[in-house]
Amino acid sequence: MRFDGAEYPPEPWAFVEQGIALDRLAQTESLFALANGHIGLRGNLDEGEPVGISGTYLNGFYESFPLEYGERGYGFAEDGQALVNVADGKIIRLQVEDEPLDVHRGTLEAHERRLDFRTGTLDRELTWRTASGHAVKVTTRRLVSLSLRSVAAFLYEVESVDHEVRVALQSNLQANRSTVASGDDPRKARALGDVLTPHLCAEESMRVVLGHTTERSELAVAAGMDHVLDYDGDITRLTQSEDDLGRVTISAELQPGEKLRLVKFVSYHWSSQQSVEWLRDQVDASLESAIAEGFDGLLREQQEALDAYWERADIEVDGDPELQQALRFAMFHIYQAAARNEGRAIPGKGLTGTGYDGHAFWDTESFVLPVLTFTAPAAVRHALVWRHSILEGARERARQLDLAGAAFPWRTIHGEECSGYWPAGTAAFHVNADIASAVRRYVQVTGDEEFERDYGCEILVETARLWASLGHYDEFGAFRIDGVTGPDEYSSIVDNNVYTNLMAQQNLIVAADSTDRHEQVAERLEVSAEERTEWRKAAGAMHIPYDEQRGIHAQDDGFLHHRRWDFENTPPDRYPLLLHYPYFQLYRQQVVKQADLVMAMQTRGDAFTDAQKLANFDYYEPITVRDSSLSAATQAVIAAEVGHLGLARDYLYEASRMDIEDLHKNTSDGLHMASLAGAVLATVAGFGGVRDYWGKLTFKPRLPDGIERLAFAMQLRGTLLHVEVLPEEATYRVEHGNGVHLTHWGEAVDLTDKHAATLPIAPAPDLPQPAQPPGREPGRPRVLAGESAGERGGRVAKTGAGREEPPPESAEASGSP
Ligand code: BGC
Repeated sequence: MRFDGAEYPPEPWAFVEQGIALDRLAQTESLFALANGHIGLRGNLDEGEPVGISGTYLNGFYESFPLEYGERGYGFAEDGQALVNVADGKIIRLQVEDEPLDVHRGTLEAHERRLDFRTGTLDRELTWRTASGHAVKVTTRRLVSLSLRSVAAFLYEVESVDHEVRVALQSNLQANRSTVASGDDPRKARALGDVLTPHLCAEESMRVVLGHTTERSELAVAAGMDHVLDYDGDITRLTQSEDDLGRVTISAELQPGEKLRLVKFVSYHWSSQQSVEWLRDQVDASLESAIAEGFDGLLREQQEALDAYWERADIEVDGDPELQQALRFAMFHIYQAAARNEGRAIPGKGLTGTGYDGHAFWDTESFVLPVLTFTAPAAVRHALVWRHSILEGARERARQLDLAGAAFPWRTIHGEECSGYWPAGTAAFHVNADIASAVRRYVQVTGDEEFERDYGCEILVETARLWASLGHYDEFGAFRIDGVTGPDEYSSIVDNNVYTNLMAQQNLIVAADSTDRHEQVAERLEVSAEERTEWRKAAGAMHIPYDEQRGIHAQDDGFLHHRRWDFENTPPDRYPLLLHYPYFQLYRQQVVKQADLVMAMQTRGDAFTDAQKLANFDYYEPITVRDSSLSAATQAVIAAEVGHLGLARDYLYEASRMDIEDLHKNTSDGLHMASLAGAVLATVAGFGGVRDYWGKLTFKPRLPDGIERLAFAMQLRGTLLHVEVLPEEATYRVEHGNGVHLTHWGEAVDLTDKHAATLPIAPAPDLPQPAQPPGREPGRPRVLAGESAGERGGRVAKTGAGREEPPPESAEASGSP
């Protein structure tokens, strides 16, 4: 792969850029982002400029703003919320003699950035020659600590190559760096302007602390930096602080071969209750702890945390180095988004950018948590505890909507509904069942009964109550859920969306079962035996539209009566359709934005026969346009299940390249967490064939051409299971723990500690492959298309989902829409 001006070799344990693609700076800032679930740093260059989008985020730290409507309606969301770009502590500028290091000036003789999945660091090495001919070598390394949650650390080393030179380092902490403007694309972030009001600035020695507040959301934040210098010679030093700026400047003279090494620690604390002064104390304390640990201490802890994660999370694929790298890239980033979230949400973009204003969606429960439940369950617990913490607001929202139980927001940071567009917002009630499903999975996989008793059961009860009040019985005794929007946002306010109804059905049953297990919770929440009977009855009577004549499920009651979208006359440049056609046209035709019925066949595959799955998949495939990054992965999973292995492989490739090749042209706004997790699901649920319906673990593995071996691990109730899939057999091994019960292609397998079983895999059937809408065919993996990984532009970049190469953005302008 080559983007202009840079190479991206498919290294197995790192994402590497050799050279620098200035026309893709905003995109690579997302790709090279570091986070720990609490702090997120975009991969901005140390010197701060050139910059695509500068970003430093704290999970949950937002500003709110009134939502404007041309025509208001009852129950519309009042306020929006947007993630704030807080004080930027990444900046370390270098001046050599009197020339500032700037990749545009002088000569950049070498430049490499490396996101290392095992050390959890972003490393950079460059050699730069000033216009007047002095060469310096700069080596930097940064990390967002997994052990000290509020700390980030930066190592900056400059070496004179061939002359005696005077260098100056300037380390900044800068608040109110202007953010992006939103333009017309609804997926982009809102321009908030300078929302941080200064409250204090304090300096001492090489430390500066700044304190700010936000006006509408009434949050307070303190940010601080301190430094440790490793240099024996004479230096001069200046520390300055202003309302929005802290700066430490150091100057030294370097002999050829001599190095100046600066370690910078940055810490952030924010609160909705504590004062700025209090937070300042916390920042001072965290900086002391960071200094005591030292950069090397933090690095060691970083590696230990990641070693433990990779033991459960690593996925090995033989035969495709690009896929290997992309899967570890995905596992690394979803862990970063969640690791230390501690009672906060996991936003759709993690903490890598402000796309979608930094909101959390169903993306988390439906894509990210299914992966993390088996690999980082503690983070899943935190994410679900966050959902529990916003339950009171969800109850209030349900009351406002004249419904019972709780209605969780479609998109939010703090808990309130922030979607100003009802049909693809609140009407997407399925988010409630998605949350319930994540609770079910977490409890069944971990056996965390305490969580179920203290948090999970209540979420299940309130969401079950929502469904019971949202649905009704028709005169034939069927339980119907009318007027909702399913995952496909190109159909809206429909009756009996299959996905929604099947997920609600599961929600109702799981809630009844959970309250049976936790009678005290049931009593506290006043769940009577009759109410549980009602839930089970509604679940049993759930209406699932099926068209006997066509032999397929209808996505919803009305869907199959609609006219088919005129795909043949839709030019490739009119995708995504949502940016080129009015919703009213999309809503009344058969065109699917993203897997919907196909998604139901993944999450509730137990409700379909094999023959139905194949017929449904083949029907929906030619009308699914994949205008959402959430689609390809799900299509991969079901394509693999029904036996379209080649197609599944192409979709996996697309999901795995979504951000790396910027297929949706908005990676600059942040990485797509659901698509990253989706690439993992496409691999493990798709080719590993893993399902966990009703807590039963089943496997139907089958490899496509181009993957010679697949291996992954899963943690279940303290047992670590290792799975290895080869073309003709699969081996299941209990690495440690009590053992597991599973099925392999329907055959029961019981494994105890340290035991393994190897079982055969039958070849896939030879099936005719369904077509996609013209121009929307997924690209072929480079290894299968006969191109080497180093070659430019595999088909995924040229024809993947009809997405041609994005136009080059200028580095400075790329932050604008
Ligand atoms: C998708 C939603 C998704 C949202 C955030 C939309 O384009 O249609 O399903 O939740 O993006 O990723």
